[in-house]
Amino acid sequence: MAQKLVVNLDKCIKAGECYYNHPKLFKVRKDGFPDVLNANPGEAALIEEAEGAIAVCPSQAILWVEA
Ligand code: SF4
Repeated sequence: MAQKLVVNLDKCIKAGECYYNHPKLFKVRKDGFPDVLNANPGEAALIEEAEGAIAVCPSQAILWVEA
């Protein structure tokens, strides 16, 4: 089943690790929260980046959900 990359804004603390380190996947909004730019990264390299973002998010706010 396909998966989609999402950010739980209720958990996000705006630390910025995701959008500073993974600009192909996230961008910062005016309010400091991230937007997901590419929720379905098909390339292996981007999927690996997404896994990296999930691993370093300090509030465990980034996750895969069923698309
Ligand atoms: S790394 Fe996590 S806490 Fe920081 S802005 Fe991204 S989602 Fe929010």
